[in-house]
Amino acid sequence: MTTPDIIYTKVDEAPELASASLLPIIQRFAKAAGISVGTRDISLAGRILATFPENLTDDQRISDDLAALGELVKTAEANVIKLPNISASVPQLVAAVTELQGKGFAIPDYPETPETDAEKAIRARYDAIKGSAVNPVLREGNSDRRAAAAVKTYAQNNPHRMGAWSADSKTRVASMSGGDFFSNETSVTLAEDTHVQIVLETAGGDKILKDGLSYPAGTVLDATFMSAAALGAFLADEIEKTKAEGVLFSLHMKATMMKVSDPIIFGHAVKAWLAPVFDQFSEELKAAGVNPNSGMADLLARVADHPEILAAIEENRANRPPMYMVNSDKGITNLHVSSDVIIDASMPALIRAGGKGWGPDGEEHDAVCVIPDNSYAPVYDEAITFFKGNGALDPATAGTVQNLGLMAQKAEEYGSHPTTFEIAEAGIVKMIAGDGTVLHSHEVQAGDIWRSASARKAPIEDWVQLAIARQKATGYRAIFWLDADRAHDAELISYVKPILQDSGVEDKFEIMTPRQATRASLETITKGENTIAITGNVLRDYLTDLFPILELATSAKMLSIVKLMQGGGLFETGAGGSAPKHVQQLHSEGHLRWDSLGEFCALGESLTFLADAKGNAKARVLGAAVDTATQGILDDNRSPGRKVGQPDNRDSHYWFARYWAEALAAQSEDADMAAEFAPLAHALAENEATILAELDTGEGSEADTGGYYLNDPAKLEAVMRPSATLNGIIG
Ligand code: NAP
Ligand code: MG
Repeated sequence: MTTPDIIYTKVDEAPELASASLLPIIQRFAKAAGISVGTRDISLAGRILATFPENLTDDQRISDDLAALGELVKTAEANVIKLPNISASVPQLVAAVTELQGKGFAIPDYPETPETDAEKAIRARYDAIKGSAVNPVLREGNSDRRAAAAVKTYAQNNPHRMGAWSADSKTRVASMSGGDFFSNETSVTLAEDTHVQIVLETAGGDKILKDGLSYPAGTVLDATFMSAAALGAFLADEIEKTKAEGVLFSLHMKATMMKVSDPIIFGHAVKAWLAPVFDQFSEELKAAGVNPNSGMADLLARVADHPEILAAIEENRANRPPMYMVNSDKGITNLHVSSDVIIDASMPALIRAGGKGWGPDGEEHDAVCVIPDNSYAPVYDEAITFFKGNGALDPATAGTVQNLGLMAQKAEEYGSHPTTFEIAEAGIVKMIAGDGTVLHSHEVQAGDIWRSASARKAPIEDWVQLAIARQKATGYRAIFWLDADRAHDAELISYVKPILQDSGVEDKFEIMTPRQATRASLETITKGENTIAITGNVLRDYLTDLFPILELATSAKMLSIVKLMQGGGLFETGAGGSAPKHVQQLHSEGHLRWDSLGEFCALGESLTFLADAKGNAKARVLGAAVDTATQGILDDNRSPGRKVGQPDNRDSHYWFARYWAEALAAQSEDADMAAEFAPLAHALAENEATILAELDTGEGSEADTGGYYLNDPAKLEAVMRPSATLNGIIG
């Protein structure tokens, strides 16, 4: 299979629906410049099908596109537009498997409790698909995320509504006072290439948790654990405190990305919340196959025919504080499914709303935000403290926080899944180097969550260099968000300082703890000035939702560029997720509110990169015209509306095509392109009324795309490309 000039990923949910309408437009325009735009399937359904070829018929089999892309991004040839994909929780994975089976794909069931070796093998293959299986493979570079100038200016001129903050808000962040990953962390920088074994030493002998690890010289290697006992005590205590304070109880985790540790922590919260029920009915719950990590939704389904347990759950609820709700109309709580409340989206939404979350009564209330580990919780705590003191941020005048994130080669916690373990029995976990040196040693109890994370030398150095370049390009205040008192960060600081010194730019950079840096950044943007947050991998993720959501209302419009270390480019579309609610709305009301502005921004960058990398002058013309079109969408308010009856995603693509064609017709750098696009621009303008009316046909009625995880291509096309006139012009 030859590699197209640009790869546009096939994903899931709302962005995948949008692609059905947008991609044909992109392909048509690119073709005029001799540029091929092809797809590669990284969707959850695609990854499942690629994993079980032996269960499929010849014509059902698909290639393992993620593996192929994983190789491509290690080459200078890569030019990938990466849309957000599902990081599947277990309930989502199970739902996708069920849908695919119903469509005649004879893939195995997901073994919830694998017993035989065969079941364990299937489980291991499914576990590799689950959670953040995609991004760590593709992100072979560090991350540069910021709002494009046009997007920021638009947000200042058209400020979104912000909830008011009052000084007496009872909203607060609750974190553990010890026993967490933050306080137990130890870290070393390896002097040479090192083979490492992870061993649990117990009274009954040694158990190898992981063998065959190897890290190159210069790797910063961490180990830490969260105490299950300390976590349980903390959660029980916070539930009581929250009740006394009379506010909502909420838990904010990243169970998708942190697919091993965070569902377990989430499970502890389910157990703490339902402690009396688990005490009274431990045998029955076990017999029903209840696993608290799977959440309350799964638990409730499993005990549906146990009225005595349901009654105890009801009784327990009366003794608990009200819970923060995912959907109060449907009774879906924070603890129903671990992937429903995701910290990087949930905390900014709560902060933007003035510290309010939705309660069981369908009203907004103050909330205790439980974020057990202290590594990053201070960011949200400090932001809340800042807004209580200063009132909400004013998006009309606020400056911007850009981000440079250390991400390459599975940096830090986001690469730690293969080296995270729920400890089965008390002992000492040691990381032992090939020469016998004990690199890390932690005394643990049964149930503790132990993990090791690493960051490699080349990515760290590349990250500091990118920061120097960006600071130089902008002149902005630049802050490394590193805590000299945290073991891992102290090792990073040992890298950062000499590089800054050698480059003679120490005076251009500050190094602050995440808490200090949060305050400094908020003070800076409140004054209307700009700053660059230079952060590790987790804060890259959190901050590129937090600040955009405050500044722009959404992270969906961000530029998100991954300068691949081998010279290629990966252009992510926005920093947001795949918006499951948007799919539900399309299916029930025929309205798709997904905003493709992130795709437009990424497309412009991808074309410009192609122009630079391949000396392709037509790509530059095409890319510049994309930027003009994006500006037009913003200036003329052509973005989708949220409500049925308003213009939606499909309308915005019509306008994007039209503005793009008009910009190409108007430019004078490439006369052939101008001549080719002039009639197209004319046809799009002339047929405006007809096209918009045709695009509106399904608005307000149910839309059938033939599936959720795997759409039917013909049905999807019918729903997303309903204008025969537009399709005729685009071809
Ligand atoms: P999400 O629900 O997809 O996004 C949160 C909210 O942000 C949406 O409900 C929507 O608000 C708004 N939003 C995001 N993108 C938007 C867009 N382009 N246009 C309009 N509104 C947009 O996020 P999530 O709940 O954190 O994650 C959902 C799924 O996405 C998960 O499976 C997650 O793992 C995955 N995810 C993938 C990536 C990635 O691949 N890079 C990144 C993040 C999350 P309204 O509903 O109010 O309109
Ligand atoms: Mg994020």
